[in-house]
Amino acid sequence: MKVLVLGAGQLARMMSLAGAPLNISISAYDVNSDSIVHPLTQQNLGKGLANAIADADVVTAEFEHIPLTVLAQCQQSGKFLPGETAIKAGGDRRLEKQLLDDAGVRSAAYHIVNVEADFNHAITTLGLPLVFKSALAGYDGKGQWRLKRTEDAAEVWQQISAFLAADENQSIVAEQFIPFQREVSLIGARRANGEVKVYPLTENHHVNGVLSVSLAAPGNEQLQQQAQAMFTAVANKLNYVGVLAIEFFDVDGELLVNEIAPRVHNSGHWTQQGADVCQFEQHLRAVCDMPLGNCELVRPSLMVNILGEDKVPEAILSISGVHLHWYGKSKRPGRKMGHINLSAANNSELKARFEQLISLLSPAAFPELQLMANRLN
Ligand code: AMP
Repeated sequence: MKVLVLGAGQLARMMSLAGAPLNISISAYDVNSDSIVHPLTQQNLGKGLANAIADADVVTAEFEHIPLTVLAQCQQSGKFLPGETAIKAGGDRRLEKQLLDDAGVRSAAYHIVNVEADFNHAITTLGLPLVFKSALAGYDGKGQWRLKRTEDAAEVWQQISAFLAADENQSIVAEQFIPFQREVSLIGARRANGEVKVYPLTENHHVNGVLSVSLAAPGNEQLQQQAQAMFTAVANKLNYVGVLAIEFFDVDGELLVNEIAPRVHNSGHWTQQGADVCQFEQHLRAVCDMPLGNCELVRPSLMVNILGEDKVPEAILSISGVHLHWYGKSKRPGRKMGHINLSAANNSELKARFEQLISLLSPAAFPELQLMANRLN
């Protein structure tokens, strides 16, 4: 099978690595250069998007901020999975909120803000504190404003109105601030025949809005059922095919959706070592209409993101259960450069190995890891 992936980053790269044993070959569309490249070498394959779509058996995506004209072109081919509607819902918070409402799935109360009257209405009806999020091109906490006190409203509105004025397509979703205990995510897959399989819930720790650690350990069955029901409602609503990720806030055991990602997800990288079939292979199986693989947690696992660094001490490879995944990207501050997966037979062994790993990593480059290690008791 030949799969064309919209986006040529690390997710396309890892799909390519996972697809090879199944004889699935991946080419990637680099949106920035408007070219078709090899997902591992980034070599330009010298053909245009239309030819690449014609050559592919399936077209899919590894990110959601794709020009609408490209989405329409892919949709027209009849080969695009999970398809235009799902990708758009992941890239526009207004559509995402509407989808969650339509699927009957809980998320933070919200109001769409385009003009000052909307802004004031959001404050009156939703109350403070509020989180204002850009509707388009928002990720990793970018394009967000917090409003805690009424006396700061004028200043926040000034910033938001300047932001809106710079792009006529932009809009803002104002959300009630959720006092959550934890952030968790569920990665799962749906096949065209409606079959759904989900991995265990993953607990996520962010630093400055960017994912730092994901932890998959045996968890709470009631929470897992809740997440799975919400996942199935959203996936069915979209008639979804492929891997879908849902991020949740855990508020005293009640889950609220924060956002969805219609693709493989950073918080699912641990599946490369912690599950029989990783999320990248699972996505390819789903879009190529092959049987889905087992999603059970084979062994407790965690993932640490490598941000803005192109080296880690080689000694970490001597720790049992460590796997290092580089993305082959050039170094830039804060950039996702690679990740470390760590697995063990049980939680206490995972904790001991994690402590060993932490002792070898620079605390400046890998802040707050100990907070997650402390959760492994
Ligand atoms: P997002 O880009 O929507 O995932 O937001 C980035 C981070 O901001 C999330 O991972 C949360 O830690 C935080 N956040 C987003 N929305 C809310 C909310 N409604 N209430 C509290 N914290 C939030």
